Amino acid sequence: MTKKVRVRFAPSPTGGLHIGGLRTALFNYLFAKKHGGDFILRIEDTDQTRFVEGAEAYIELALNWAGIPCDEGPNKAGKYGPYRQSERKASYANYVNSLIEKGAAYYAFDTTESLDFHRTDHESKGKTFIYNAHNRLKLDNSLSLSKEETASKIASGTPFVVRFKTPENTTITTSDMIRGTVSFKTDTLDDKVLFKSDGMPTYHLANVVDDHLMEISHVIRGEEWLPSLALHIQLYQAFGWEAPEFAHLPLIMKPTGKGKLSKRDGEKGGFPVFPLTWLESTGYKEAGYFPEAVVNFLALLGWNPGTAQELFNLEELVGAFELERVQKSGARFDPEKTKWFNQQYLQKASAVILLPEFKKGLVASFGKTAIENKSDKVLENIIEMVKERAAFTHELIGLSAYFFVDPTEYDPKALKKQWKENTPQILTALTEIIKAQTDFSSANLELTIKNYITEQSLSFGAVMPPLRLALVGALSGPHVFDIMEVLGKDSCVKRIKALLNSPK
Ligand code: GLU
Repeated sequence: MTKKVRVRFAPSPTGGLHIGGLRTALFNYLFAKKHGGDFILRIEDTDQTRFVEGAEAYIELALNWAGIPCDEGPNKAGKYGPYRQSERKASYANYVNSLIEKGAAYYAFDTTESLDFHRTDHESKGKTFIYNAHNRLKLDNSLSLSKEETASKIASGTPFVVRFKTPENTTITTSDMIRGTVSFKTDTLDDKVLFKSDGMPTYHLANVVDDHLMEISHVIRGEEWLPSLALHIQLYQAFGWEAPEFAHLPLIMKPTGKGKLSKRDGEKGGFPVFPLTWLESTGYKEAGYFPEAVVNFLALLGWNPGTAQELFNLEELVGAFELERVQKSGARFDPEKTKWFNQQYLQKASAVILLPEFKKGLVASFGKTAIENKSDKVLENIIEMVKERAAFTHELIGLSAYFFVDPTEYDPKALKKQWKENTPQILTALTEIIKAQTDFSSANLELTIKNYITEQSLSFGAVMPPLRLALVGALSGPHVFDIMEVLGKDSCVKRIKALLNSPK
């Protein structure tokens, strides 16, 4: 690659950034970093009617949370700024004027009412109204009017837009790094509006002008922008500029595989579709996902490394990523798989890292006293004992609850099965043994209790399950003796007595 790689993520601040948007940003980031290039954030806020307060800040927060900050952007100065299109407003008029001078664009004065009339009229005949070479001379524009009429309309303040003059009966062929050759027939294309009556450029004009001025080398964006490519290519040609390379990413599909993933799918399926909470929709962050897990599963939505490897940190992704390995077809979103990724990252996270959130959760669930007598070391030990079964940090609380509160009930099925005639006698003997135990380490407890079992010629099955039931309330959990060491002598005795006294 000879040209310096410069890519941009160019969202419009019209709402919270959907995970599809975050994936687009991620693929741009990975491509930039892989080629030692720059990743630019450009805010496309020319459509004032769709502007949503807070959306821009949200986008930046989301990128930072995911660990893919921009190199240049509204809050990261660079020599191509400003990075908000509303702040570049003054420059677009000159560009559109240059197109009018070249005859590549023209003024159109058609009123909304007249365009609506044509649209409905066409619809009623089962046709679609397209504004282009086949009818533009019959409509109200600087091509159908004389120079003088046009000048006088403009001078008298008649509202106008500027439209692109699509060539007649031409096929536009270009290439996409993911899709290969793509062609469009101009007869099906509208003479798109480039400049609006409010003095603002449309997305198309501003996007192409800024990609050129910001020296963007590759445009990596969602498949929904593929239909715009025909116009964008023609704009580059009309301006006489070299076009960037294009890559249109596949859509993210619903879990069923049919149709584009939407906010509603998340609501229905109970999974987030936003990286961070947006309005009433819980984000991945708030749902307890690690940003690394989110980045990892997003990277695999439409891209594959060509091997069976699934777990990648950001650095590994940068190394492995290739646009050529991005698929054309839609990528099915699997909410269960996202949990699996989080689980993998939770297993990798050290107890020290998980401790602060774990403590917060404990206090919230069981009150301050639950952790008062437990050192950080003990709490970390508890995390290590239970985390294997957790996919989220908050699940550690439920999985370790019995370390902090005495069981109040016992798994009825297990109790029924394990409670034998000699169980009370065994449990009573155990309380005495435990009371007498001086070294309360897991290893020594194990020795003592196993000795007791052998000496009494008992079976393990007669002793261990009731003991576990007394301590945990169920037959699940880590090594019993590890649990006992953490609980301490008094608590163990108390719990065994409680089971003895509970109604059977
Ligand atoms: N502003 C467009 C969007 O909201 C950008 C599309 C593009 O990347 O060209 O996604």
